[in-house]
Amino acid sequence: MILRNPLVMTPGPTPIVRSIQDAMGRETIGFNDPRLVADFRALVDDLTSLWKCDGLAFIVAGSGTMAMEMGIVNVASPSDRVLACSNGFFGDRYVDICSRKGFETETLRPAHWGESVTVNAISDKLSEKNFDVLMLTQVETSTGVEFPLRELCLMMRASYPDTLIVVDGVASMGGVDFYMDWGVDVIVTCSQKCFGIAPGLGMLWASKRALEKRESMGQITETYIDFEKWVPVMRDTNKYWGTPAVNMIWALCESVRIIKEEGLENRFKRHRYYASAIRKSLRAMGFGIGTSEEMASPTVTVAKYPEGCGLDDAAFRNKVYGEGVHLAGCLGEFAGKGFRIGHMGNIDEGILVAMIAAIERASIKCGYKIEPGVGLGTIQRALLDM
Ligand code: PMP
Repeated sequence: MILRNPLVMTPGPTPIVRSIQDAMGRETIGFNDPRLVADFRALVDDLTSLWKCDGLAFIVAGSGTMAMEMGIVNVASPSDRVLACSNGFFGDRYVDICSRKGFETETLRPAHWGESVTVNAISDKLSEKNFDVLMLTQVETSTGVEFPLRELCLMMRASYPDTLIVVDGVASMGGVDFYMDWGVDVIVTCSQKCFGIAPGLGMLWASKRALEKRESMGQITETYIDFEKWVPVMRDTNKYWGTPAVNMIWALCESVRIIKEEGLENRFKRHRYYASAIRKSLRAMGFGIGTSEEMASPTVTVAKYPEGCGLDDAAFRNKVYGEGVHLAGCLGEFAGKGFRIGHMGNIDEGILVAMIAAIERASIKCGYKIEPGVGLGTIQRALLDM
């Protein structure tokens, strides 16, 4: 018998607070009802200004992958050269999108799964050859690796200012330090990650330069995700292209209200603190971490089973589920060797403690010999130190 749903500690969806659930459950009105038009207007303005974007924010119904596709097809012509940095499964997805579109795409990968392509490797590549677009993933969800985006932006501004930068911010935007004025041209995300809403909305920020690039490209083969179709709507939310997801827009309004109340800088700090506390606690229980401390992301952690601990991946995660927490399995080279935790959005210390407690109980019930309280004590101390 299930008394309550498990805590959703996956890298999307993430826990949804009551006020956002309520926004999604409101009675739906027409998309050209003046009340929705006004809410949509305020939302686009908030997203644009909060992330210091000199261009425009877009809100379009769809998943993160749609936003990724929208992000690249509006700033790269088939004749353009794209340098794609892939740190894992979702980086490879972007490479696949670029290849299918027929861009001349070259890919950089780190030496090992669980690492990031370095700024030096990118700079070396760009010194050999000119690329029109550089593409990367800020947080690679399959490995829990954070790309050194600020450092990259400084290097690009100084040495390659003409190359457009397109970022998959699906697992980072709204939780990890970032502003458009670092010099990024396009960043994309979606509703079910750091914004803490149900899946269904794609969000995209385009710099003034990205909008100008689209204007210079003429007609593109895509229709639904064409900037030319959506720019008029984002500039005047009374206009129509594809039906806006009315209730999801309200949910995003509430999410942004919460973000503004917390403050972006505080939110970024909180995500880093929580991630560090989770890693300490996992280590105290004997688990490995899928990447180094320097590259570990504030939003997603890969925990690896200790050698010889006897834990079977599927059985263990089922047990954790039974203890009230939904974790994700690993992907790629880490598949079967560990589990992934999404710790992003509107979560708090109570949620983290409950999650560690469930992992601890499930470990012991599955025969992995750890002292009850070893993980819990560590996370409590880490949270008290913050
Ligand atoms: N990029 C990253 C980094 C992701 O984590 C995900 C989803 N886990 C996606 C892209 C794809 O998003 P969606 O599943 O919403 O299409």
